[in-house]
Amino acid sequence: MTADATAPRAGVFLDRDGTLIEDVGYLDTLARLLVFPWTADALRALNRAGLPVVVITNQSGIARGYFSEAFVDDTHRALDARLAARGARVDAYYYCPHHPEGAVAAYRQQCDCRKPGRALVDRAAAALHLDPARSFVVGDKWGDVELARAVGARAILVRTGSGAVEEKRPRGGLAADAIVDNLAAAASWILMHLHSPSAPRRTRC
Ligand SMILES: [Mg+2]
Ligand SMILES: [Zn+2]
Repeated sequence: MTADATAPRAGVFLDRDGTLIEDVGYLDTLARLLVFPWTADALRALNRAGLPVVVITNQSGIARGYFSEAFVDDTHRALDARLAARGARVDAYYYCPHHPEGAVAAYRQQCDCRKPGRALVDRAAAALHLDPARSFVVGDKWGDVELARAVGARAILVRTGSGAVEEKRPRGGLAADAIVDNLAAAASWILMHLHSPSAPRRTRC
């Protein structure tokens, strides 16, 4: 393994709300943190395969004044504790606190880190030595698929959260590499396709 110890690795970029946990609207109290029953098993499978798991999430509730950055950090610590109890882990969390129409001036901006912007993926890739083009993005919205396309990763849309509705409303020019029921199926798909080259992209014609 020493030969390409310095080559950037594949990783998995995961959306949070609707993908790892129930999308309850704006999660603003830990009482509403509902982890899907298959999430820990799915993450453990990725952990065991040596794939870094990075959460990339838009948290515009911060800009809207619904909750603080500290609350988002608390949420991630609580999620980590529940996953650890089942032998699974997230390697890193990155969130965008901004929104162009946010009520909180400090976070009101057109940023490049709000998905489908790629800045958070780039930041994570630099920190964890990942190659986005060899990586996977999993999410429940077309914006997640768009992010995958922007960074050259493979895109998996899950039907949890908004995914089932998104599936019925195709967005022009955007196709996922796979549409699956949930994160467990997404993890299986990733492990099956890990060593196969990216499929040719369906392109706009
Ligand atoms: Mg989502
Ligand atoms: Zn941002």
